[in-house]
Amino acid sequence: MPIHEKSLIRPENLVTHEHLTIDGVDVSGHWSTFINSRVVTDYNEEMEEEIAALPGGEFIHRCWQCGSCTNACTVNALNPDFNPRYWIYLIRMGFEDELVRDKDLIWQCVSCNKCTYACPRDVNPEGVMKATTHWLELKGHTRPKPAAVFDDVFASQVFETGKIEDGLVLRQFFARTGQSMFQSWLIALVRGLVFRLPVGLLTKLGLATLFRPKTRGWKKARLAIEDYVDERHAADRRALGLDTQGAE
Ligand code: SF4
Ligand code: SF4
Repeated sequence: MPIHEKSLIRPENLVTHEHLTIDGVDVSGHWSTFINSRVVTDYNEEMEEEIAALPGGEFIHRCWQCGSCTNACTVNALNPDFNPRYWIYLIRMGFEDELVRDKDLIWQCVSCNKCTYACPRDVNPEGVMKATTHWLELKGHTRPKPAAVFDDVFASQVFETGKIEDGLVLRQFFARTGQSMFQSWLIALVRGLVFRLPVGLLTKLGLATLFRPKTRGWKKARLAIEDYVDERHAADRRALGLDTQGAE
């Protein structure tokens, strides 16, 4: 089983001379490719610990770089640059700058968990991808990605009423991500539902949108969940050394 490789050598550092003669010997052509040297100054020795402290990243230290996760990965099959094994390597080595270069790829994990089933060391690579995305956001390297916005909209509704109203989740998600509600696929979906769902269910859905029913006795549960979420956010920020100034 091949290990999908990804190199630390940056493409812009590769130099191929069309015409080059050294000591009278013509060394033109791609076989004499040179690599410009660079000094790595971006070590973050805390990076593995920081990501291990976030939910999903706990077992990153177990990785032995076999590459089974990348071989099994759904997104890697479409885009070879999506490489969980490589990112875990960067994190464990503390190559923050290299990791940040892939910030617009890492969040594209679709959480299929194929990597998790393939991993012989129970690293939970899917969890590591989630923790890494979260870490990139907390560190300010990326803005919250659509998946994080969706989670936020969904969770806010649960906190508020103890129930989910799908139409409202969609509307809020589309508004916050700047997307139009009049996309052709969405119109087709709504039209399909209107023609196929029983009238009774459609009426129920419509009324739920208007009146936003709440789960009975939800307040106590809501407060407990909100406390837990606040504690979790504070713990995550503490683990990354954020908010240290001004903390008690
Ligand atoms: S969960 Fe993410 S990293 Fe794992 S196989 Fe699926 S897409 Fe790839
Ligand atoms: S996370 Fe698991 S499957 Fe992936 S390289 Fe490490 S040990 Fe292998």
